[in-house]
Amino acid sequence: MSFKLHPLIDNGLKKGSESFSGGTLSCHCPSEKVTVSLSSNVLHNHACGCSKCWKPSSAIFSIVGVIPTSNLSITANASKLHIVDASAPIQRHACKSCGVHMFGRIEIEHAFKGLDFVHVELSGEEGWQEPQFAAFVSSVVEQGLVAPEDMEGVRGQLKGVGLETYDALSPGLMDAIATFVAKKNGTLRTSKL
Ligand SMILES: [Zn+2]
Ligand SMILES: [Zn+2]
Repeated sequence: MSFKLHPLIDNGLKKGSESFSGGTLSCHCPSEKVTVSLSSNVLHNHACGCSKCWKPSSAIFSIVGVIPTSNLSITANASKLHIVDASAPIQRHACKSCGVHMFGRIEIEHAFKGLDFVHVELSGEEGWQEPQFAAFVSSVVEQGLVAPEDMEGVRGQLKGVGLETYDALSPGLMDAIATFVAKKNGTLRTSKL
């Protein structure tokens, strides 16, 4: 059996375009949509199994990418946005009417400060970078979305479309976060090799 992981995963990944220059995200409201304009492609697009990232109904995973904050602007109905959880490191700005998360922003000192988190499926344009890996995969068990005994199948399905599965972020991104912390703590080591 196959699981409905996410519409952008279930039929195989569609490779993004190198020359793609961005597009517009729209919320799910039938009218007076919140729109957000992105002036470049996303970096580090990935599938995420955590409980905080927005996902479409019936999907098990979210697809979330990052983009420099300066490449994002709210272009319509900004007054409908609210912050889902002001105490979270990522301030997720969602439409109050339909619940769709339009962008997440980090305001605290953090390795990823300066990057906004977005969901490219909210755009009608094609060419967005395809997901590169799947993060926080085991979280889907915690949330009751997948039975533990079905996880081998879920991981197999992700790997089948080319997504390596991790239970945090990818090693490169985890190292980037750790490097930021080491710099802040003054414990950053230089290579002796
Ligand atoms: Zn909406
Ligand atoms: Zn997430």
